[in-house]
Formats: sequence, structure tokens, C-alpha cells
Amino acid sequence: MKVAKFGGSSLSSSTQLKKVSKIIQNDSDIGAVVVSAPGKRFEDDIKVTDLLIALHANKITGLPYNEALDAILSRYEEIITGLEIDFNLLDKFRKTILSYLENISDNDRLLDALKSCGEDFNAQMLAEYLSQEGTSAKYYSPEEAGIYVTDESSNAQLLDESYDKIAELKNREEVIVIPGFFGISKNGNIVTFPRGGSDISGAIVARGLNAEMYENYTDQSHIYSAHPGFIDNPHAIEELTYREMRELSYSGFGIFHDEALEPLYQVKIPVMIKNTNAPEIEGTKIVSKRELIKDIPVIGISCDVGFTAISVKDYLMNRQVGYMRKLLQIFENHQVSVEHMPSGIDNISIIVRNKNLEGKAESITEDINDQLEPEKVETEGNLALLVIVGEGMEYTVGLANKATKALTENDVNIRMMNQGASESSMVFAVKMDEYDKALNAVYNEYFRNID
Ligand code: ASP
Repeated sequence: MKVAKFGGSSLSSSTQLKKVSKIIQNDSDIGAVVVSAPGKRFEDDIKVTDLLIALHANKITGLPYNEALDAILSRYEEIITGLEIDFNLLDKFRKTILSYLENISDNDRLLDALKSCGEDFNAQMLAEYLSQEGTSAKYYSPEEAGIYVTDESSNAQLLDESYDKIAELKNREEVIVIPGFFGISKNGNIVTFPRGGSDISGAIVARGLNAEMYENYTDQSHIYSAHPGFIDNPHAIEELTYREMRELSYSGFGIFHDEALEPLYQVKIPVMIKNTNAPEIEGTKIVSKRELIKDIPVIGISCDVGFTAISVKDYLMNRQVGYMRKLLQIFENHQVSVEHMPSGIDNISIIVRNKNLEGKAESITEDINDQLEPEKVETEGNLALLVIVGEGMEYTVGLANKATKALTENDVNIRMMNQGASESSMVFAVKMDEYDKALNAVYNEYFRNID
């Protein structure tokens, strides 16, 4: 049995929903389907989730919101009309949104409830259309499916008991259609996962139902070894491991949410990345273990922007017991998570994401100066991280040399380097305005001779 998850671009219009329904009808192994909200139909289009967020912004600032509401409903109207399904659904959707707007007084709760509409309505329409086309299908809300989550708005975490509840849906005759992106808390609140979180819902359902495969449909046929927006015709990856995918999605590969692997990792359910517009293409498979290919130790290179390094310099730092603990404690006290820590004997850089540091850099520096009295504390913003990923790297000599050579030859100043003990990734920090150049240089070095 397979669980299939369809992303926003796969469900952006009635034409796309028809393609999705064909895929489901042609594959009797698909037992459950998880859907995103309607995404962009063209470059400058707006995702329904963003329209719902805009509606919320208008409501809480006291601005008129009818136009925003109409923009959302017109997206659903197009789909309902195109699929020729029951037009009463549109009225039902309008009433649901209005009831949230009228009855939920807490702003954060309202935002989550509104955001959930994107996926919720899509799931209802798809189930209706599949049934109309002769495939027995049924919509299950996350509450009915048993997706229980913590109560932290926009940042839901799954409660483990959910898996047993979801398992009760096993072996149903009909195709189960569940909206992605949100669950229900024990207090009865709708709580959404972080943005892009329908991937997480899909993985949760796959695990709960103990699926043999989790298919993740987007508008791309593969995961590529570098972002196609920056590298022309990048190498398509046939197979990669959870660990490699996690490293790549953490550092900028938007195709698959980095938190979505967690539910699958322990139970080893493979993921297949597939294209709704070309389902006949095999796609990229994500597995727990793969055979390493001798000539391709590096599987992918990503580059992510928006990092800051806070660097501390202190003579004989390595001799002072507890220095690192005290330093990290300061970041914990300010609730800033640490991404990387390249270090030398007398210096260490703490790399954090800019969005986590907002407004806190000065007080963190002050605390470091007060508590550790180092020689120097420096902050360098506007950094990009180039991440080179591949489990084969552990067994190959000279890969770091290749990267530094490529960067040097292209005049890219390496600000910092880091490699964890697992050797499945190497990280280079470069200036933000040099990241395109850095990515191209390193990509060419590793992949130029590979077909
Ligand atoms: N619709 C949500 C978003 O745009 C979740 C998702 O598509 O996965 O973030």
C-alpha cells in the first residue's frame, strides 16, 4: 500500500486536480492521499495559503477583508466549476471561513484555523471528484484520521499516540483523502505545522498506515544535485539516503520539507519524489541505505543564505574547562538555536540563522563579554552556507581540497569551514553576494564529468 502526497502546484487548478485523480485511479496501490492547498498556477500567482494569511492580516488590523475572502473563494470556484462537482461546496467553504473569522478571538488560533482551510477544502473537493469519477474515496479531517498535535500555534509537533489512531484506518475499501499541514490539539484547536508542512502530514500518515512507499508528487521529476535555478541542467539524482536528503533540504532544497523525514526514518519507509505532470517518469527514491557509487562521492550541493557568525577569540581558550558550555548557555538563554560551530584552538564561531537572531545580537555579545571576558567578539552577517553532501565522502580522499581549489580559483573568499564527524557533509561559509559564484565553482568541480 502506498500513501501519495500532492503538493500545491499539483492542485492549483481544476486541470491539475484532474491529473491527480488520474494518477490515483491508475494506481490501485494508492490507499491514502494527503493534499496541500492550491499553489501557484503561474510565476506571479499567489498561493491560497498566502491569500489566507493576507485575509488574517486584514482582519486583525481592522481593515476590510471582503476582497481577500473573494480572492480565496474564486480559486475554489474555478476548481469546483472545472470539475463539475457539487456547487454547494463553495457555500460550505465560505461559511467555514466566516465562522472562524467571527468566532475565534485569539489571533494566533485564528491564523492557524484560516491557514488550515487551504488544504481542508482541497481534500473535500478531491474526495468528491474521485467519487464522481467512480473511484470510491472518502474525506477524513485530521481529527477523524487521528492526527493529534501539540498546541503551539504554527509549530505543531505530532503526539506519538497518533500513529495507533491512524492505524485504525488501515485496509479501508475506499481511498482515504486527508488534508495536510495541520492537526488537532488535545484542547480541540486546529494547529498547523511550519510552512510547507503537508509533506510532514504525508509522512505521518504513511507511517501510521505502515505504507510500503510514500510518494511525494510535485512539479519536478527528480531531486537534482544542485538547484536548477542556479545551475543549468543539473544532474538528476536517482537514489539518495534520508541523511543526505535531510542535509540538502536543511540547507535550501525546497522540494521536500526537512522535518518530513523524521516519521519515516525509524521505520524505513522509502519515499519516491514524483512529478504530477509526468507521472511515468520514475523519479528520485529516498531510502535508508543505498549502494554508494564509486565515482560520485558527492550527491548534491546546496547553498542557503541568511546566516550570521558570532566569533569569539580568546588566548588559551582550549585550556579553559567549561568555556564552550558557558558560551552555548548564552545562546540557549536567548533562545537562539545554533547551526554550526567551526572552531580553532583559540577561537570559535557560532553560526546562527538571521531570522533566529533578530534583535538579539547585541545582548548576546554583551553577555559574552560580561561572562567570558574574551579578547574579542565579532559579528559577521550576510553569510551564505555552501553545503556539500554525500555519504560516499567518508571513503574518498581529496574532496575538501577539490572544493577549496575551486573556490580559490574563482576568487571566492572562504570565511569558515566545517565538517562533522559523520563526513556526510562539508560546510563552507562564504559572503552572501558570492554564493552563486561559489555554487557554480564547486558544482563544476564535482559534476562536470558526470553524465
Ligand atoms: N499550504 C502550506 C504552505 O503553503 C503547506 C504546504 O503546502 O505544504 O506552506
